Amino acid sequence: METTKRILDELKTNGFRRSAAREALLRTLETAQSPLSVPDIERRLASGPRSFNKTTVYREIEFLKTAGYVSELTLRNDVALYELAGPHHHHLVCVDCGTVRDVAVKEESWECEERRIEKKEGFRVLDHSLEFFGLCGSCQ
Ligand SMILES: [Zn+2]
Ligand SMILES: [Zn+2]
Repeated sequence: METTKRILDELKTNGFRRSAAREALLRTLETAQSPLSVPDIERRLASGPRSFNKTTVYREIEFLKTAGYVSELTLRNDVALYELAGPHHHHLVCVDCGTVRDVAVKEESWECEERRIEKKEGFRVLDHSLEFFGLCGSCQ
């Protein structure tokens, strides 16, 4: 729970009080192997020692998102998924079972493409997001 602790400490330094819901949410996201939807988060929180209502969960997500600790990922089905903000990365999304996992890609080729786009379109690229949709090993 290193990340959860670090984030709570940082927030405390900035004058934000520690709340049970915030801590539980951060722990849930830290232990998750993949980005989670709000229902996923609620299900996991429900098996914990305390329960939190949906409004609280949404409020905490919004807060942590604005503070830059949580990032939101919206896939083709328009369901928002949340994960701890971390180094830039991409995802593999199974269109059958819905499993989402991180994947490493060669960023150098995208950087080169970004420079080309900037030149051609006169558009300054700051970031990109890219997800791969397909069938996971067990769904093939
Ligand atoms: Zn699958
Ligand atoms: Zn990338």
